[in-house]
Amino acid sequence: MKLYNSLTREREEFITHEEGKCTMYTCGPTVYHFAHIGNLRSYIMEDILEKYLNYSGIHVKRCMNITDVGHLTSDADTGEDKMLKGAKREHKSVMEIAKYYTDAFFKDCEKLNIKKPEIVVPATSCIDDFIEMVEVLINKGFAYTAGGNVYFDTSKLDDYYVFNRHDAENLEVGVREGVEEDTSKKNKTDFVLWFTKSKFDDQELKWESPWGLGYPGWHIECSSISLKYLGEYLDIHCGGIDNAFPHHTNEIAQSEAYLGHKWCSHWFHVLHLNTSSGKMSKSSGEFLTVSLLEEKGYDPLVYRLFCLQSHYRKSLVFSWEGLDGAKTAFNKLISKISSLNFEDKSVPDEVKMNELRDKFKQGLDNDLLTSLAITALYDVLKSDLCDAGKVSLIEEFDSVLSLDLIKKAKELKEQNKQASSVSSSGFVITGPSAADPDSDEVKKITDIIMKRYEAKKAKDYALADTLRQTLTDMGITIKDSKEGVTWTKD
Ligand code: AMP
Ligand code: ZN
Repeated sequence: MKLYNSLTREREEFITHEEGKCTMYTCGPTVYHFAHIGNLRSYIMEDILEKYLNYSGIHVKRCMNITDVGHLTSDADTGEDKMLKGAKREHKSVMEIAKYYTDAFFKDCEKLNIKKPEIVVPATSCIDDFIEMVEVLINKGFAYTAGGNVYFDTSKLDDYYVFNRHDAENLEVGVREGVEEDTSKKNKTDFVLWFTKSKFDDQELKWESPWGLGYPGWHIECSSISLKYLGEYLDIHCGGIDNAFPHHTNEIAQSEAYLGHKWCSHWFHVLHLNTSSGKMSKSSGEFLTVSLLEEKGYDPLVYRLFCLQSHYRKSLVFSWEGLDGAKTAFNKLISKISSLNFEDKSVPDEVKMNELRDKFKQGLDNDLLTSLAITALYDVLKSDLCDAGKVSLIEEFDSVLSLDLIKKAKELKEQNKQASSVSSSGFVITGPSAADPDSDEVKKITDIIMKRYEAKKAKDYALADTLRQTLTDMGITIKDSKEGVTWTKD
């Protein structure tokens, strides 16, 4: 498999330290608020990578931290702790906020079919490990104390800007974003490993340390957790592109200074999802969450497909029109699959199966070109393979794509069957000619009308009335006739 490596800035053959095994580290969410769908774009693409490696016979051991302390409002060392800011906003304790938004994050992941990593570690559970790592860095001469804090001394490194697109000029931006420059630092690029002094002294969670009561810097968390759970040689590290600098750059500095050798060989960065007006935000503009998508009537998996239609290394602009396009494509795909015969017991032609499988692999082997993997699905449907073969291949591809294709197609088939059984008993539902029978809205209306029909048949008039009211509330007017029901929309 060829995969772009941000460290070498090249597409490389992805080789792991141990054959058939891969260690993968993912920067987890900062749990001070809901994740926005931009954050989730990164996790969807990382999920595809993990599942595709597993599909290719490589067992992935994946670890993710939960950032519940130390991530300041500026990714540099200025500003308030995001967790504390969240707690103040909601008049709760930091730990309450952390629990609530960690659960919310994994609920969103579940809705998007993002697998929970094998190992999930809240930063606050590893304070002793961070302290040990900082002590070693001080002993090795890579860290110093100043003004009450412990800093990493970047001047001790030959090459600090490992992701070389980031230069000193870019760093200025980080400094400008912050409140003011930290005068205790020896070098502008030095960063905090342990805080005991900060402008925001109301930090709620503090721990005893050799340098006084304080709390860890954000970067040390990921280095230490990764080393603890995945060992000294990491195969791949993932995150959104904003993490490349300073977070990942600092992780490399600390980990390699601590170990005395190269740490992680491959860096996988997902480009951002933006809005038409720019950066995705949790505080200004429309806060785009999975719940908002659901409220607006979108299946979260439509958003997953939206992400898979484009390449992870291209920034993506979110628009409702774009999401509508993905919704139409998703419904068409499910509808096509639903017309297959799931009971077919023919023996598929293995040669043809392999040809189609190769197309799917070619896409993903080529720096995770998910759009080609989706095209491979259509190729299966268009092929002259027997239905048993088509169903089996779609199921196989979906072990990576995770769009619930077969499950949803079977549900649709069942719904259609029910609809025809109702109409065969003489009950006909007629909607406006422009209504798309495959759309979620029309399916929902038909479903409620059928339920009302069943309720009336069972003489449950109260339920029938409630269902009529539900339709009225949706802006749907129904007219009973001898043949069935005709509905219109206001
Ligand atoms: P955070 O919760 O801020 O620590 O971020 C969680 C993950 O989302 C990190 O991997 C970030 O790099 C990533 N991320 C942040 N913003 C975006 C975005 N607009 N698009 C894609 N990924 C993002
Ligand atoms: Zn991290």
